Amino acid sequence: MPDQNFDIVVIGGGIVGLSTALHASRRFPQLHLLLVEKEDRVARHQSGHNSGVIHSGIYYKPGSLKAKLCVEGAAAMVAFCREHGIPHEICGKLIVATTDEEIPRLQELLERGQANGIAGLKLLSREQAREIEPHCSGVGWLHVPATGITDYAAVCEKYAQLTGAQGGTVKTGTKVTGIARQAAEISVETTQGNFRTRYVINCAGLHSDRVSRMAGEKSEVQIVPFRGEYYDLTPESAHLVRGLIYPVPDPRFPFLGVHFTRRIHGGVDVGPNAVLAFKREGYARTAFNLRDAIGTLAYAGFWRMTAKYWRSGAGEFYRSFNKTAFVRAVQSLLPEIRSSDLIPDGSGVRAQALRRDGSMVDDFQFVCSQNMLQVWNVPSPAATASLPIGREIVRLAQEGFGLESQGQMNGRSPN
Ligand SMILES: Cc1cc2nc3c(=O)[nH]c(=O)nc-3n(C[C@H](O)[C@H](O)[C@H](O)COP(=O)(O)OP(=O)(O)OC[C@H]3O[C@@H](n4cnc5c(N)ncnc54)[C@H](O)[C@@H]3O)c2cc1C
Repeated sequence: MPDQNFDIVVIGGGIVGLSTALHASRRFPQLHLLLVEKEDRVARHQSGHNSGVIHSGIYYKPGSLKAKLCVEGAAAMVAFCREHGIPHEICGKLIVATTDEEIPRLQELLERGQANGIAGLKLLSREQAREIEPHCSGVGWLHVPATGITDYAAVCEKYAQLTGAQGGTVKTGTKVTGIARQAAEISVETTQGNFRTRYVINCAGLHSDRVSRMAGEKSEVQIVPFRGEYYDLTPESAHLVRGLIYPVPDPRFPFLGVHFTRRIHGGVDVGPNAVLAFKREGYARTAFNLRDAIGTLAYAGFWRMTAKYWRSGAGEFYRSFNKTAFVRAVQSLLPEIRSSDLIPDGSGVRAQALRRDGSMVDDFQFVCSQNMLQVWNVPSPAATASLPIGREIVRLAQEGFGLESQGQMNGRSPN
């Protein structure tokens, strides 16, 4: 099969790659753009296995990319869903302190949220909290009225459709197996033949570090997968949760803690926990892949992280295999929950970038070098923030690749 020519190839049909393709095809209508996704449809991994929450932006350090893009992204996501008829609801969230030690952190969250410009935040009395979530317990309550829920797989389908309508090509069932880089051209080898292109944007999620290495990039981080398991509340107990009930997060970790989430298509999820996974795209508790496991265990950063956090990690493992311990943990938020109220549901695997020194990369991270842009860290709230993330990636690519004007594109047609 002869090589096909494009100007730009985006690798990965998750919400970040699709938003990038959407913005690139809009900003450069003359660009011949191809997005390749290895699965048979888009959003098969993180973007289709998440909590479906439109985060307000309360958790993130003021001035960070996460804070800026989440606050902007939440408003953009609601407008996008409204415009395209994608189901969504602004149901609000209650963050609950369950011990006196968590009260100062609840206060800090309020101040962070105010610094990030989130409207309507309010510390509540027990009576006020009970009006919103009649069954929750706790000793302190912060109401975040701007938080919502949606269906991110449906959002991804729409991004793909709009990209196609703007002249881009989205090719599923096409796995990138190699990248050969020359000065002015890149050959992207895939299971569906080779594509020649001038620029590549790597949005490969759980495989983004491997795709970087295929292109000869020395990644400063490695992806370590953390599985998040969910239970479903039985229909009889679903009335115990009206909207979203979250704990106060542990500031040492980028994860938000097990929460109760009303889903946009009905039902209530309880989860996700955060358990080290031995398979990057493995959704079962027992999923194991030798290459993935060795990749993690041979990484110095993993052992440095483990030395610091082994106690919390062991607790997560214990609660993953022991439902009684999991139930005890969630009863601190909702005391009426019983083990029989929880039915095992799906799971998701987070791509968490880890540095060699064992620290987890907290903020979003994009790195442009020559004719490739690498998206190395886009954990939660990247689904919420996907519209401004895609715009930001395209802006960086425009600067880094020197795409100042239409005349600089090569104008070759895809064949
Ligand atoms: C359990 C969980 C709960 C979450 N909850 C929320 C939430 O409520 N709200 C929120 O805003 N965010 C949430 N997130 C975060 C959010 O889902 C992710 O940050 C976001 O989906 C990342 O998108 P992505 O496109 O980078 O990755 P992905 O969706 O994983 O997409 C990457 C794509 O690249 C493809 N790919 C990989 N390698 C190749 C290759 N060699 N060739 C071709 N294609 C390749 C994969 O098949 C995949 O489809 C959650 C995440 C998880 C895991």
